[in-house]
Amino acid sequence: MRKPFIAGNWKMNTDSRTSVQLAECIASGSLEVAGHRATVAVFPPFVYLQSVARALSASSVAVGAQDVYCQSNGAFTGEISPSMLKDIGCTYVLCGHSERRHVIGETDELINKKVAAAISGGLLPILCVGELLSEREASQTKEVVTRQLRNGLAGLTAEKVSALTIAYEPVWAIGTGRTATPQQAQEVQNLVRNLIAEMYDGQLAEEIRILYGGSVKPGNSAELMSEQDIDGLLVGGASLNVDDFLSIIRSAV
Ligand code: PEP
Repeated sequence: MRKPFIAGNWKMNTDSRTSVQLAECIASGSLEVAGHRATVAVFPPFVYLQSVARALSASSVAVGAQDVYCQSNGAFTGEISPSMLKDIGCTYVLCGHSERRHVIGETDELINKKVAAAISGGLLPILCVGELLSEREASQTKEVVTRQLRNGLAGLTAEKVSALTIAYEPVWAIGTGRTATPQQAQEVQNLVRNLIAEMYDGQLAEEIRILYGGSVKPGNSAELMSEQDIDGLLVGGASLNVDDFLSIIRSAV
């Protein structure tokens, strides 16, 4: 039985006051709507991670970073290591979010190094995969997601991959208001689970959580969660609104 996982990616939003306020409201509200029946995590901007982690330290809401670098220390100006994130109370980290792939230009190879470094550093990565609209229209979804998954996990053992969560986020659905249908998401997420079984083993494939992300809202979350291979939701825009985020959590348990 896979525990539902609802993750809120705040992207480059909030400030020092509103980040803590939002975190506190989510902590008290999620306990009320879901108890401990769901894993809930928030992903604030780097500069607010420490204060949000402090505000959430007595709660069951976990904190994650939106990115990490693949080295543990040294001359990497501007970058943040897995041990630094651990040190300030982070549990999770997003790797390969579509905005990092397509706006910042991260490659599968770099993302693979980040996933490996995150796991070695004791963090739990969420590897994001997903196709562009042009790739879906050219019937390349399977090929793109397979490549991103195989390259993203290159060289990682089953034991390491057991620390991982995967998020399927079709790029055309992120921040666009255009959600994948539950059937479209299920089809790709089933492919992802079968790939994990092929690359590793059936037990790991059964246990690993696969989230859907892309314009998730209170109005579509329950239907998405009813699909067999959708174990949780990675929520962007709607995670900045307490009521919306809580109602998405409620719909998942
Ligand atoms: C995301 O940031 O991963 C995301 C899915 O954003 P949104 O929910 O706004 O589409």
